[in-house]
Amino acid sequence: MNFHTFRIHNGHSIYPKLRFNYLSTEQDRREWGEAVRCARNILNQPAFDEYNAGELSPGPQVESDEEVLEWVAKDGETALHPSCTCKMGTDGMSVVDPESMKVHGVENLRVVDASVMPYITNGNIYAPVMMLAEKAADLILGNSPLPPEDVKFFRTDQG
Ligand SMILES: Cc1cc2nc3c(=O)[nH]c(=O)nc-3n(C[C@H](O)[C@H](O)[C@H](O)COP(=O)(O)OP(=O)(O)OC[C@H]3O[C@@H](n4cnc5c(N)ncnc54)[C@H](O)[C@@H]3O)c2cc1C
Repeated sequence: MNFHTFRIHNGHSIYPKLRFNYLSTEQDRREWGEAVRCARNILNQPAFDEYNAGELSPGPQVESDEEVLEWVAKDGETALHPSCTCKMGTDGMSVVDPESMKVHGVENLRVVDASVMPYITNGNIYAPVMMLAEKAADLILGNSPLPPEDVKFFRTDQG
């Protein structure tokens, strides 16, 4: 997990500045090494032999954890899923009230988008955004949201 920052300029630029802080935590750096080793292991299985013309990127010359991190820092991308910059919750680090979607301590400001996810979802984020928007619409309109379902799912931080 990375702690992103989001800064709104007062200067010349009208665009906010987003800093993802990739590779800033030990977990992020470790998991990159694991991910590359895991992908290589899967793709080098005999079942893939007929499709396997050799590794293109990062390439077999990138071996050590340090080399993998260097490659990630140069070539890594967001995969278009920025999220979690103002998580909903009730603890000290949360920004948005999950019962109303209002920003804690600010009048007349709600946030309803991927930024309120407390942690990034396992899969792509478009469907979860739709789900939280549907629920937020009910909360804002004063309708009863659908009852919660206790569905088991995998989380890396809970094994
Ligand atoms: C190329 C691409 C492919 C993707 N493919 C997938 C995929 O296959 N599956 C998947 O699950 N996810 C996919 N995603 C990710 C997913 O679509 C987005 O992360 C998701 O839409 C984020 O939802 P959001 O509501 O947080 O933000 P957005 O969908 O970006 O919505 C933000 C909205 O705010 C509006 N807005 C911005 N500024 C203002 C303003 N000042 N005033 C009023 N409105 C404003 C914008 O016009 C926009 O409508 C993809 C993303 C991209 C870019």
